[in-house]
Amino acid sequence: MIKFQQVSKTYPGGHLALEKVSFHLEPGELAFLTGHSGAGKSTLLKLISLMERPSAGEVFINGVKLNQLSTKQVPFVRRDIGMIFQNHRLLNRYNIFDNVAFPLVIEGMHRKDIEKRVHAALDRVGLLSKVKCYPDTLSGGEQQRVGIARAIVNSPPILLADEPTGNLDPELSVEILNLFKDFNQQGTTVLIATHDLGLIARMKYRSLTLKKGRLIDDLLSQEGV
Ligand code: ADP
Ligand code: ADP
Repeated sequence: MIKFQQVSKTYPGGHLALEKVSFHLEPGELAFLTGHSGAGKSTLLKLISLMERPSAGEVFINGVKLNQLSTKQVPFVRRDIGMIFQNHRLLNRYNIFDNVAFPLVIEGMHRKDIEKRVHAALDRVGLLSKVKCYPDTLSGGEQQRVGIARAIVNSPPILLADEPTGNLDPELSVEILNLFKDFNQQGTTVLIATHDLGLIARMKYRSLTLKKGRLIDDLLSQEGV
């Protein structure tokens, strides 16, 4: 589903953010991406979501080689990918419905279908009752769940999360992780970047570790360790 072959990324100015990174995430897998701040986690996610292009090597999504994509094809690949950010990036001037509907409006979907999907997405994160509220009236955990609803509203096969629990207390973090588990159990491929090792240690999932741009570990974390 996601394949990196000897991928390097050098930013303008010469900073080497990723160096010869190779890994393969199968369809339906859930994995964590860990490493200290600056290790290259965000960069790796941005190469998948086409917000950045590799300087060397190949990235494949769903068998499609990303560096051969034309500008026209980019939005179609992006539709397969739901992105969740640490600060959820909700639009404060719009209510929850409109925030979640946003990707569908951009796609040009009909209003009736948008309503159905937004309600289904909010139901999945347990926030249907907040559909008419504005983001700043919700708690941090609720805002993050709205961000997740927006990411899954068009049922993408791939879900990427960049420090999704960074601003949340441990209890809420577990709640958010359980949501990702649910999506994964229904077949979504999930990659979660986090430096919260305590959180991962409790779960038995694959964990990719970056250090200064290099992939130094690709392990199955042990339950209870
Ligand atoms: P992480 O997400 O693990 O904190 P990043 O991928 O954000 O790491 O950053 C990896 C390295 O690349 C860091 O040293 C960072 O300063 C650098 N970097 C990230 N984005 C840019 C950019 N747009 N321009 C230049 N350097 C960048
Ligand atoms: P976050 O911590 O929310 O993941 P990022 O580390 O991705 O934020 O940085 C936010 C923005 O700043 C991104 O667009 C990233 O590319 C850019 N950026 C990060 N580090 C650098 C850097 N050293 N030089 C220039 N831009 C950077």
